[in-house]
Amino acid sequence: MSNDSIHLSRRQFLWSSAVVPLGLITSVAYTKQSNPKIEHIELFTVRYPTKGYSKFFIGPGGTYGRGAVIVKITTGEGAVGWGQSIPSPMWSYETLETAKIVLRDYLGPALIGRNPLDIDGAHKAMDLALAPGFSTAMPIARSGLDIALHDLAGKLKGQSLSQMWNRPRGGPLTLSWTVNARTLDEAQAVIDAGYKRGYSNFNIKVAPDPEFDIALAKLVRKRAPEGFLWADANGGYDQASALAVAPKLADAGVDVLEAPLRPNHISGYQALKKQGALPILMDEGIVSPVELTEFIRLKMLDGVAMKPSRCGGLAPAKRQIEILLNEGLMWLGSGLTDPDISMAAALALYGAYGLKKPAALNGPQFLTVDVLAKPLEIINGSATVPVGHGLGIEVDEVKVIELMKKTTGSEKIRI
Ligand SMILES: [Mg+2]
Repeated sequence: MSNDSIHLSRRQFLWSSAVVPLGLITSVAYTKQSNPKIEHIELFTVRYPTKGYSKFFIGPGGTYGRGAVIVKITTGEGAVGWGQSIPSPMWSYETLETAKIVLRDYLGPALIGRNPLDIDGAHKAMDLALAPGFSTAMPIARSGLDIALHDLAGKLKGQSLSQMWNRPRGGPLTLSWTVNARTLDEAQAVIDAGYKRGYSNFNIKVAPDPEFDIALAKLVRKRAPEGFLWADANGGYDQASALAVAPKLADAGVDVLEAPLRPNHISGYQALKKQGALPILMDEGIVSPVELTEFIRLKMLDGVAMKPSRCGGLAPAKRQIEILLNEGLMWLGSGLTDPDISMAAALALYGAYGLKKPAALNGPQFLTVDVLAKPLEIINGSATVPVGHGLGIEVDEVKVIELMKKTTGSEKIRI
């Protein structure tokens, strides 16, 4: 069969999709596009409603929820890829407002007219459009475009992300339950809620109060004697407190200590790693593969809590996992309370690289809506890696627009 006979014009594609199941026709139409070009990009600013308390959902002016800019990239022939930028101003300096502006005025325009299959080239173009600071500029905003490019490239090639990477699909992935509690009573209730949902591994948010943190660790370890217990300080200790608390957290049953200090405390990280009380993981501060390599040379870490959104997307995150594997260091799967689209991206990456430890992807714990035609499959704290081309999900644009109107009252932006 010649390319011409399979190739569908946009008009034929639209007609066909009305009478043939969309999944079938899209794979045929997308796969046979020759020399595809990004024609336009659309942005939808939303705030996913949440349940339960997390300090990371606090926004400006009394707003609360998991903010996201949903990204839709469309080629000249109508193929579409979806992504999602998920800033959190209580986690890093990127906000919903800055993500929207950076995508609209800087990174998005850099991709118009490019071939979506050239993802490395897209990252180079984005490097030129917005200069780096210490590392990649505005990585969380950028990640939405990277994820949408991966979705689109997979659909154009007729491959899942794992197939594009020549890796197994992997999964299902065990998820851990986040305990971000202000009192021990509250922690008890959160742990109970996790067990009721079928979870038995826990992430605890610690710092700055070592006494509370040790009591919290003991409480969780008592309730989950066999579970993986992962403490994340989000850079909240000073060096002396971190060195004092690490052995006590180890005694209380903690398995790993993530981000005890802000990432620019290089000598502090070196001291904690040398102390060896607990494996020291970094998170904030590992943006591009360059500083990961440098920080490994400086003996600052035993591993990294991975999250594609922090790294500028799947391509740099994948490279970081490969660096960690080559160095014999630990990598854990984490996230930023990823909603559906970015969670699908993280599941694909972690599944493809055979993640064994429970993943701190806590979107299902905290978020109450999704924008998918069929929600991600999460049963008893275990997530299936989606099957299908690209991210393996179908985004329902009607749901996206409803969520945008209801939660931010904003209009779609077209680049
Ligand atoms: Mg963290």
